[in-house]
Amino acid sequence: MLDGLVTRFAPSPTGPLHLGHAYSALTAWDVAVAAGGRFLLRIEDIDSTRARPAFEAQILEDLTWLGLHWEAPVLRQSEHLSDYHAALEDLAAKGLIYRCFRTRADVAAEITRAPHGSTGPVFVGQALPPNAEAERLSRGEAFAWRLSVAAARRHLGPAPSSLTFLEAGHGPDGEHGEIRAEPERLGDIVLARKDVGVAYHLAVVIDDARQGVTDVIRGCDLFEAAHIQRLLQALLDLPTPTYRHHPLLMGPDGKRLAKRNGAPALKALREAGETVEDVRRRIADAEVAF
Ligand code: GLU
Repeated sequence: MLDGLVTRFAPSPTGPLHLGHAYSALTAWDVAVAAGGRFLLRIEDIDSTRARPAFEAQILEDLTWLGLHWEAPVLRQSEHLSDYHAALEDLAAKGLIYRCFRTRADVAAEITRAPHGSTGPVFVGQALPPNAEAERLSRGEAFAWRLSVAAARRHLGPAPSSLTFLEAGHGPDGEHGEIRAEPERLGDIVLARKDVGVAYHLAVVIDDARQGVTDVIRGCDLFEAAHIQRLLQALLDLPTPTYRHHPLLMGPDGKRLAKRNGAPALKALREAGETVEDVRRRIADAEVAF
């Protein structure tokens, strides 16, 4: 028995859960149960432009139907915004984030000319000179806070080999075991925007630490995120969990199962009379891919 193992399922309430979510939630649940550990639920509702209470209620109902239960109270990220802002201020005080006034279109145009990271073109920028920044602020122009990966590297000093994480599952290219974090793969990511006050990566590392999560179990589409999350853990002095990325369920079209390619919602399966065993069988029979 792996004493003290803590897993979590961290859905964003921006739509109904489908079979792919059930796979992720059941995997995290099964690992916790097998180890005599704990399973937690976290509602990642920081994007107030997309999160809906009705989806959250549906998620709780679907997970209960799947036979899962979790500790109360459920952590709801929208109730902890001040903690994320404090972390942003910490990073700002260390000179690790900068204001970026570019629009999405500007960034899109720029990264087509930029050096390509392993996941495609990435954005790397820097703070404006103080005068130019002050002028834009005085005009009330919108900006995003971006993490300067270069400044973060300088801040951490010359020991890049210690920036590693343990991948107990697999990344999309079979990555497994001790992985050297390469946050440059994602570039200078946005950590806060006007409409979404804090970005997913920042909230996730704070909450995985706050909840004492030892094993992050999630789809391998988030493997790349671990590279940047590992950097944020180092910058904010937070522990690094073990990562266990799992493969993704494929739809009949050979693409990753998603709402847009007709992934059956759990609610629809339930209403059609399927049982949890049927759902587990569907998952076991589904094509998967990394
Ligand atoms: N909230 C994220 C999502 O629904 C998952 C975050 C995570 O597991 O790290 O895709």
